[in-house]
Amino acid sequence: MAFVDALGRPLRDLRISVTDRCNFRCTYCMPREVFGPDYQFLQRTELLTYEEIGRLARIFVEHGVEKIRLTGGEPLVRRDLHQLIALLRETPGLKDLTLTTNGSLLRAQAQRLRDAGLQRITVSLDSLDEAIFKSMNDVGVPPSVVLDGIEAARAAGLAPIKVNAVVKRGVNDDTIVDLARHFKGTGIIVRFIEFMDVGATNGWQMRHVVPAHEIVARINAELPIEPAEPNYRGEVARRWRYRDGSGEIGLITSITEPFCGDCTRARLSPEGELYTCLFGNRGHDFRSLLRDGASDDEISTFLGSVWRVRNDRYSEIRSEHTAGLRKVEMSHIGG
Ligand code: SAM
Ligand code: SF4
Ligand code: SF4
Repeated sequence: MAFVDALGRPLRDLRISVTDRCNFRCTYCMPREVFGPDYQFLQRTELLTYEEIGRLARIFVEHGVEKIRLTGGEPLVRRDLHQLIALLRETPGLKDLTLTTNGSLLRAQAQRLRDAGLQRITVSLDSLDEAIFKSMNDVGVPPSVVLDGIEAARAAGLAPIKVNAVVKRGVNDDTIVDLARHFKGTGIIVRFIEFMDVGATNGWQMRHVVPAHEIVARINAELPIEPAEPNYRGEVARRWRYRDGSGEIGLITSITEPFCGDCTRARLSPEGELYTCLFGNRGHDFRSLLRDGASDDEISTFLGSVWRVRNDRYSEIRSEHTAGLRKVEMSHIGG
């Protein structure tokens, strides 16, 4: 039985963050002044095991989840992630299994992820400009390493491949057309993301946001595009296709055109807390249930009690009175 929340939104998507660690320090996500050598990451025993994740996934799918996305932190830094893929593949009723990665470790892992049953993949790449990309990831990784990872994913048969690019004014906005042009006609869909006010550490200000309509206008001026219909209800990206038929791009407009009305996503943190909104300030503890010996029925009942009362629509009501709330970090629950 599928659970429906207080605003009529079914539970359909589950994002599972498998680690809070990352080998990048993207300035908009894990600024190194905060996530430095003294930062206390979760201990191994605090993380859900693959068996625990697999069990929760099965219960979530019984209650409406059709699609699972693995994320992080950087999911590929968690040891033997392909084993989790293989385990989740066996979830009865699961229709779609995917992964978001920064791509830096993809060359080494693409084939074994594919062999374990991963279908498709999203790779984050904010710019093709070497200096800009290095300063954004803040660990000096050049775009060529990520492009290499994308190529390995393609060679391994992962498809479709999507590329995520966060756009920050004055940082990489002058390079978005290049990024679009690079992937135009390749079948790889670039999705431009408005810089979001997630977490409390990235110094977000409205003036850093490049509104989607401006991104569209800049691309359209050089590579003509037109709007395309959504593929399904709740699709996060607004689709635009090239007028010459050579593919499409997406815009993730969480700041200028929020899409809470169709939000069917739940997010599970690495230590087993469920967040019903990306901007949540409180998770619901599933790990204690798992480790205290709860039955599947008890876990289902708890999930129902969380989802049925869900009324989050942060992006639609974003305002001064929500600005001071303690919010969970993006690197913890994975975007
Ligand atoms: N490490 C992986 C990666 O970078 O793809 C997965 C986790 S990361 C948190 C997931 C996505 O969130 C990435 O595409 C990243 O660019 C995006 N992201 C992180 N912080 C963001 C922010 N403040 N605004 C918009 N998107 C953000
Ligand atoms: Fe790491 Fe991804 Fe956050 Fe960058 S966006 S710091 S790669 S988790
Ligand atoms: Fe969903 Fe919360 Fe984002 Fe709205 S703000 S789309 S409810 S995650």
